[in-house]
Amino acid sequence: MNHNTDVIIIGAGPVGLFAVFELGLLKLNCHLIDTLDKVGGQCSELYPEKPIFDIPSHTRITAQKLIDNLMAQAKPFGPVFHLGQQAKKIEKIEDSNWKITTSLNNIIIARCIVIAGGAGSFVPRKPKINNFEEYEGKSVFYSIKDKSMFYGKKIVIAGGGDSALDWTNELASSAEVTLIHRRKEFRAAPDSVEKMLDLELKGKIKFKIGQLLSVKGNQGMISEIICENENREFSIAADYLLPFYGLKMELGPIAKWGINLYENRIKVDTEKFETSEKSIFAIGDINVYPGKLKLILSGFHEAALMAQQCFRYCKPDKKLVFRYTTVSKDLHKKLGIK
Ligand SMILES: Cc1cc2nc3c(=O)[nH]c(=O)nc-3n(C[C@H](O)[C@H](O)[C@H](O)COP(=O)(O)OP(=O)(O)OC[C@H]3O[C@@H](n4cnc5c(N)ncnc54)[C@H](O)[C@@H]3O)c2cc1C
Repeated sequence: MNHNTDVIIIGAGPVGLFAVFELGLLKLNCHLIDTLDKVGGQCSELYPEKPIFDIPSHTRITAQKLIDNLMAQAKPFGPVFHLGQQAKKIEKIEDSNWKITTSLNNIIIARCIVIAGGAGSFVPRKPKINNFEEYEGKSVFYSIKDKSMFYGKKIVIAGGGDSALDWTNELASSAEVTLIHRRKEFRAAPDSVEKMLDLELKGKIKFKIGQLLSVKGNQGMISEIICENENREFSIAADYLLPFYGLKMELGPIAKWGINLYENRIKVDTEKFETSEKSIFAIGDINVYPGKLKLILSGFHEAALMAQQCFRYCKPDKKLVFRYTTVSKDLHKKLGIK
């Protein structure tokens, strides 16, 4: 599907979300892309319940609450989210516009791009199995979008964290589930572990100790999974394999976009936070400049200055008038303040 907007923001972490507000103040519309299927970046994925103490005016705020507040602050500006997909390819097209293609083949065209990609995309940790790619997206999934496709099927879930245990418990009543993990200790929440062990005791699921070695199947559809434990091989019949080994962050396609990098981060100026490519900006953890601090508040400041320069590119015939939010009539109208 094709979309047009003023600014594309790559990354819906705290800094990408605040950028929507700063761009919105200048009447610039945004589309955001994130590989995760939820917004919030590191805050929501890595430490949602932890309190943060250095967000100005909050003596303490949990990371998830901060994201909820940023979403509420961005909402009046109608950001469009493309979640669960990676920004893969950037191309320069006519009228100095940029075209981004995502991993789900969505195409977004905009005058400016803002890379707020943190330490890179969150991507699943994958089992090291030869020719595994041919099964991915057909009978191997790293997250579940529609659980009904697994009903009545033989499912093997691999891993010992929250996702592995939660989905084992969730699918136990509708599918033939085998959980495989390399040992009997789990990282998941204790009550999920207790529930899984109870289901195993009642014969509602199977639990095996071992590691995945290889898979057998045809045309992307798995039929058998070969595993091993203490040098003993065994196989499990399966229709689907769900490896839930957690996520890692990886710079991914950003490294191939021809933008100047320094130690895997994007070099920017400190006036506009623009990269070596005109009208491509980088804000938040992903950028680097003398004195950079990887803090959320630094990213907020960078977003405000970046937005000013985006305005100049997107509305070259309009004058940029700086207004405090306390007196901005446009903002008050947008927020329904009389
Ligand atoms: C445990 C922990 C505690 C912390 N405590 C604090 C604290 O107290 N105070 C503080 O200020 N900071 C703290 N931080 C750091 C803070 O979380 C980061 O500075 C902040 O998250 C950076 O925000 P960001 O929006 O730049 O990037 P991120 O939060 O990393 O978000 C980037 C997003 O971009 C997406 N992305 C990347 N590449 C692509 C692509 N090609 N296509 C699509 N999506 C892409 C990623 O999936 C990710 O969701 C802490 C971090 C951790 C891990």
